[in-house]
Amino acid sequence: MTNPTSIITQLPTPSFLINPHPKHVFREAIAKLPMNGVNTICEEAKCPNRGECLPHHGTISIMVMGSICTRGCPFCAVTTGKPLALDPGEPQKVVEIARALNVRYLVMTSPNRDELEDGGASQFVKIVTALREFNPALKIEILVPDFQGKENSFAGLLKNPPDVLAHDLQTVPRLYGPIRPGAEYGRSLNLFRWFNGKADTSKVMLKAGLMVGFGEREEEVMEVLSDAAQAGVKFFTIGQYLKPPGSTLEVTEYVPLERYQRFTQFGKSLGLMVQASPLTRSSYLADRLASGSKEV
Ligand code: SF4
Repeated sequence: MTNPTSIITQLPTPSFLINPHPKHVFREAIAKLPMNGVNTICEEAKCPNRGECLPHHGTISIMVMGSICTRGCPFCAVTTGKPLALDPGEPQKVVEIARALNVRYLVMTSPNRDELEDGGASQFVKIVTALREFNPALKIEILVPDFQGKENSFAGLLKNPPDVLAHDLQTVPRLYGPIRPGAEYGRSLNLFRWFNGKADTSKVMLKAGLMVGFGEREEEVMEVLSDAAQAGVKFFTIGQYLKPPGSTLEVTEYVPLERYQRFTQFGKSLGLMVQASPLTRSSYLADRLASGSKEV
């Protein structure tokens, strides 16, 4: 009998899922930046937009604290294993990248660093501090892991908070087991609730996101939007899951365009600013989503 979940991968990819910008241009553009061993999630996650963001918008999503993740989520192309020690020179390296990019809005993320006591929170703060010293006007977005729910790590980030604090919910709670092992939906929501309660949310805007095409139902996504809004989230991104090379996690559906419109409308009704489209990723045109808010 045919496995229905394998059928979708045999179908041609819909044209709306193909970013027309050639990816080799990314390699040429990134080679001109002083990366000095710092990575990008654009490359590590094999992002479908990497032919567009850097060559056409001058933006990247910097991946600090190495390119090895302590978890092994099947949807993600980032390598799993034992990470290397943190680089004390990394804050200055990120400053040099920001200087070369000459942007007003910078996005960075990290892999899960569960082996570190604070999950990497203090390294984020060191980098944000160096960036603010370099350019106080620079707007900074950091996409953080769940820090295993440790409130000490959350509190550590408040020593020099970013303008936008993002965390991916990835999928609906029913699918956390197979899609996001090692994470808990409630724990991720608590991260937002904690910052909503403790941070000055006129200065630190909260951003969440998930991917669709894992077999979630439309109403389940609506429930996640509601949960996020109640937890204080302001920005929300939704994009289509694409199977990375080597993953066994199949795409179960190419979500039709009209469903993204319904997600956007529903999110708006909750007071969220939503970016939902097949090629949306958490950092895709992040400056534009944030500029929809007067505060950022
Ligand atoms: S969407 Fe994000 S990860 Fe993808 S290329 Fe653009 S900046 Fe990089």
